[in-house]
Amino acid sequence: MGNNILYIEDNPDNMMLVKRALESRGYKLLEAMTGMTGVEKAETEDVDLILLDINLPDIDGYEVARRIRGSNRKTALAYLPIIAVTANALKGDAEKAVAAGCDVYMSKPINIRELWARVEAFVPSPHVK
Ligand code: MN
Repeated sequence: MGNNILYIEDNPDNMMLVKRALESRGYKLLEAMTGMTGVEKAETEDVDLILLDINLPDIDGYEVARRIRGSNRKTALAYLPIIAVTANALKGDAEKAVAAGCDVYMSKPINIRELWARVEAFVPSPHVK
């Protein structure tokens, strides 16, 4: 298993925060700033886990999750871990994310320790042997 994390997120500040946090633990971050780019990268790049923002400029995160789960370009996408990163956990975003195919969710603002724990639950850090 590799350690490639795809983060689908349109906010550059969140992207930079997560990039630094995950690279400090030895992961490699692949970036997608739109939903469609995210689906494309999930289908074509070597990805071990996806972090998925819900509010995106084109298709939303729910649609991204549904397209990834329903993709017939790579069978592993049916089981690839997807962590939704939701801004409105109290408004039902989390339940909708799980219904769309995400495995778990975490709330914004992003807590780095929670991020590490959530990611490591699926993909062990290369730094922890
Ligand atoms: Mn967003």
